[in-house]
This record gives sequence, C-alpha cells and structure tokens, in this order.
Amino acid sequence: MSYPIPIIETRGTHYQVGQQIGIAARDALRAMYAESLAEYGDKWKPLLALSKPFLDKTIEHFPKVVQELQGCAAGVGIPFDDLFLMSVEELLYEEVRGETSPHPSPWKGEGERERKKGCSDLAAAPPATRDGHVWLAHNNDLGKSAYDYLFVTRFRAEGEPEILAVTVGGIFISVGLNNAGIALTGNQLNANDSRVGVPRLLLVRDILAQRNLESALASALHNERASSYNNIISSSDGRIVNVEGSATSAALTWSEEHGGTLAHTNHYLAENMLPFESDHQNIATSATRCERAFDYANKYHGSIDYEICARFVRDHVYEPWSVCKHAGQSVTVFSTLIDLTEQKMWLARGNPCQNEFAPYALT
Ligand SMILES: [Zn+2]
Repeated sequence: MSYPIPIIETRGTHYQVGQQIGIAARDALRAMYAESLAEYGDKWKPLLALSKPFLDKTIEHFPKVVQELQGCAAGVGIPFDDLFLMSVEELLYEEVRGETSPHPSPWKGEGERERKKGCSDLAAAPPATRDGHVWLAHNNDLGKSAYDYLFVTRFRAEGEPEILAVTVGGIFISVGLNNAGIALTGNQLNANDSRVGVPRLLLVRDILAQRNLESALASALHNERASSYNNIISSSDGRIVNVEGSATSAALTWSEEHGGTLAHTNHYLAENMLPFESDHQNIATSATRCERAFDYANKYHGSIDYEICARFVRDHVYEPWSVCKHAGQSVTVFSTLIDLTEQKMWLARGNPCQNEFAPYALT
C-alpha cells in the first residue's frame, strides 16, 4: 500500500541505522541543510563552535545516539558537525547565548529565530477510554517547509526495542512508539534556563529506546539535559506521565491523578514551572488549544477512543488558534493517533480535516 508519509526501514548497529536513514532521506536532509545555511549565513560558523560543548556532553552520555548521527551524516554526505548543529535547537532558537562559551554570541542582539513549533496533545488511559486502551492524539504544528521532509522511520538498532517514529529528515524524531509498549508524544516549550548539555531533540531518541516507563522517565529527566520538551511518556500498562520540563526543573503529572487523562500544548502549566516560561506573548495561542484538549478530556471521559481522538485533532474551535491549525507561523503538518495497547499508529499528512488517516504498525 502507499503511505501518506514514506517509511524508512533500518536495521543494524546504530551507525548502520543512521547510514541507512541518511541514504534514504538524502534529498530531504540536503535540502534542510541548505535551508539552515541560507537562514543563518555568517552565523553558522560561530554556531558550529558553540555546538562543540553540546556534542561533548552527548558523546559522554549518549554515545550510541552520536554514532547514529555519524552514520547519518556519512549516508547523506554532509559534515557531521553540521548535522549535529541541526539538532541543537537550544542554539538555533537562541535560547543559549554566548555567555556559556569562550566564543562570542553570533547574534549581537538581533531578533531571535521565529519559533515555528507548536503541538496539541490529548492522552487517555483507563478509566477515561471506552475500550480500556491507551489512546494518544497529537497534532504537530511546524513551519510549512517541514511538510516536505516528513518520514516514518522504523529504527531496529541492535540491543533496542523496535521504534516506529515520525521524523523530520528521517533522523530527528517528533513522536513515536516502541514494541516494548512505550510511546512519546509532547510539545515544544520555551524556557529561560536552557544551557549547554544534551540537546532535547536527541534525548527524545533515548527516551524511545527504553523498555519501561521508569527508565523512559529517567532519560527525560537526565541531569545533563540542555533543556526539555513537554514529554508525554505513555506505557501500554495504562500509565501516562506528563513531564513538563526545563533544563533545571520539571513537574510530573500522572494520568491516574486526573481520571486517566492528560492534555498539553506549548506553555507551562505547573505552578512551579511558570517562572521558567520565556515566551509570554504566545501563551494565548497555545491556551486556546489547551482548553480544547481539556474540554475533550472532560466531556468524553470514559468514552475516549479512535473516533474521539480523530474528532479532537480536527477541532476548529478558536480558529485560527485551533487544534487543527491552518494559519500562522506554524500549521498542522501531520496528525497522529496512537492505540498504544495495540501498538498501532495512524497518520495524516497535513491538516487532518482535509487528509485521511493511514495505519502504520510495528512489525
Ligand atoms: Zn482543519
């Protein structure tokens, strides 16, 4: 069958898996690389220097993730250091400035890069679901160009569970699940304490390599993290934890404390995390989507299933700041529904109100 988002199949050592991705996604990664060089221009070189301490931390704590990136760079035919920098959102979004490095900041007070990431999530476990399954619904909002670089990558790396993940450029994971029963969805956050460390985008790769909720949670809270997404970690045993993190702090919310449901978008919700918010002007456009996620969690408690999740991701209330997002810096470039109990994922490319869902499964 043909899939709306193409699948990349991999198997082998981490280096081999990366190399297979690099070859399969070569055109997309070269285009992303060219876009980055064009966007940053003269700033790219100083950013490369600033990314070195991030690389050192990642090599120290997650050598396999680095090996996979090295294989990928070789497969694409671009310098490894450049591919690594493409993963350091903390630098690309200017969250970490020059002070932590002997190199001067390349920005000199200019406006920061537009933050083009947004996402809306509803997560449900028993007793909130109709069928007793664990259901996840996630809309991924990115800059429009990301639409062309989407893949579903099946990671079959030695010593790890099989991972099926939606990726940008084949290598940079957005959401996914593994055959040990762990899923990761979640949202971009904008924090004011980002620092040199393991890039949050690469931590995601390690979270999905874990075989149980506890180790996935430990990975998300790794004490050398440069920053954090809002990571929603779900287990097929019926537990879901929302990790609303920053580099130096985190708030955990468990689904069982909320009748089985969790909802989140792109701003901090936990009281102890509010001081870390750095993007106050965009809270309003995140809060509308968040309110709808909570509306669904409450209104459909006990009956959440595929149909309710599909309705949620197509929701247009509060347009243009709706869950199914058509306007603004970021638009919905893909939509995901996951039945973690059955280890199945459905994906729609583009806005889910205009595009059908297609099933993807672990082998
Ligand atoms: Zn729509």
